[in-house]
Amino acid sequence: MTKLANKLRRAAGLPPLVTIRSWMGIFSAEVETAKVATVDELAAVVRAGGYACVGSAHSYNGVQIVRDATAVILRDCGLKAMAYDETAHEVTVEPSVTILELKTFLMARDRRLVSSGNYMAQTVIGALCTGTHGYGREAVMAEGVRALEFLDGAGRRVALRKGQRDFRYAALAFGAIGPIVSLTLKTAPIESFEADTVICRLSEKPRHVTDEHAAMFAVFPYSDRDDPTIALQTIRPARPGEAPRKMASPLFTLRRVSEFIIKRYWVFDRLFPALRRPFQRLISRLDVHYHNRVITDPRDLDYLYDPTPGLEGARQPDILRSMFSPTHTAYNLAFFVRLADAPEVVRFVMFQADQYRKLGFYLKSMIGVRELASKSDLPFAANFKGPVAAIDLFADVRDYAWLERIQREVFAYFPDVRPHWGKSAIVDEWADTLGANHITALRRLHEKHYPGDGLRGTSRMRRLLGLPVAPPGTIATAPKASPNAP
Ligand SMILES: Cc1cc2nc3c(=O)[nH]c(=O)nc-3n(C[C@H](O)[C@H](O)[C@H](O)COP(=O)(O)OP(=O)(O)OC[C@H]3O[C@@H](n4cnc5c(N)ncnc54)[C@H](O)[C@@H]3O)c2cc1C
Repeated sequence: MTKLANKLRRAAGLPPLVTIRSWMGIFSAEVETAKVATVDELAAVVRAGGYACVGSAHSYNGVQIVRDATAVILRDCGLKAMAYDETAHEVTVEPSVTILELKTFLMARDRRLVSSGNYMAQTVIGALCTGTHGYGREAVMAEGVRALEFLDGAGRRVALRKGQRDFRYAALAFGAIGPIVSLTLKTAPIESFEADTVICRLSEKPRHVTDEHAAMFAVFPYSDRDDPTIALQTIRPARPGEAPRKMASPLFTLRRVSEFIIKRYWVFDRLFPALRRPFQRLISRLDVHYHNRVITDPRDLDYLYDPTPGLEGARQPDILRSMFSPTHTAYNLAFFVRLADAPEVVRFVMFQADQYRKLGFYLKSMIGVRELASKSDLPFAANFKGPVAAIDLFADVRDYAWLERIQREVFAYFPDVRPHWGKSAIVDEWADTLGANHITALRRLHEKHYPGDGLRGTSRMRRLLGLPVAPPGTIATAPKASPNAP
């Protein structure tokens, strides 16, 4: 929207339009926005209707970008209250609170979140709504939700506690319920971890991982499909008495070179894209092996990567990250597969990427595989049916649609592929895996609290739920929900 166009809107008594963009900018819309300082003001926006909730707009897949709706960008609102209950060890937050703010608040009380993603600018509630996860047990953040309150279409507070009917649908509803104005989460005591980084072959991974470990690994996508080279990260609670420490590698050794590769791989990948494949094949041929151990400081705010307290980004210039790291320079699409299928899916993705190479497509960085080791009772969580692996793929922004194609190919060959609500392409195919009964239940809940079109969502999300969809500029009317809800 040009400045002139907005001047004309103002002259006509209309509010200005603002462009909101998803992370990496693939999805955008010009919308009116509403900024509120209190829940009462938010309730007035809700009663006026035609709104959509945005957290910090960090989702990649545009789940937060809704045309024909007033965007309430909650991160920028004044709803920042946090309260800690020392008896229940639960924390309650309002919707403008970010993960970093919550982690810092908890750290001052010697508590931490059970799990979180590896980026902290997101709002806590936005991250929960999209099933944001780390790895290990109880890896999906929403598994820690104990209670929540949202505003219904009339602007009234509706409170739900774990175990109550409807709770499990409202707690992870990817925008179908909102605004959530209060959320109560379980916390854990701060703790020191033993974090190991190992470069090895995929076949060697079982040697380094026990039941005690939380594990994730990153695969060099152009190494060797039969037995790819991986950078494995495992974490388990540190043994009592172990002080925070980092192992230093001697200079001018293959170990030191390997360390350099892991730490700065994304810089190399971005600066020398043409060397990506030959370099990875060389790593594979050299059969590089490496092991490093860190005992983390219990007051480390990062995602268990370093032994020092606080945030690594606050100690080192962030410029390298924002110029080169894949989360800042690439499109990221992710989905979940059954844990046992992960090695085969990785090989399959490597095969697909190699096929598309002839067409000029490259996977950027590495293929991320995070293991979510436990089962959730939230029907739209990644691990509702049991342990899964999150497969994260990165590509140049202009190549993002190739990742959607890889997602479809994985769908075609593997069972029970499930969506990441902030990163997967949201398509009708997900309905089969998620279960018609669960989709109907969420739709029923949505229609019960938001009759009409007061709360709006993206067309992809609405189509998946069987809600009416209309082209931009028109408003759809609702067909009746199916009576087969559980
Ligand atoms: C750099 C980066 C790193 C990431 N790392 C990870 C990771 O490690 N693991 C992982 O799983 N994901 C990760 N993600 C994905 C990210 O965590 C999710 O997409 C998350 O939703 C973003 O939160 P947000 O506050 O930006 O929400 P938005 O993207 O703004 O919104 C997401 C959804 O939540 C809804 N919503 C937001 N607030 C409310 C509310 N108060 N009430 C009701 N509905 C609401 C919106 O309507 C929308 O449907 C990453 C994303 C980025 C950009």
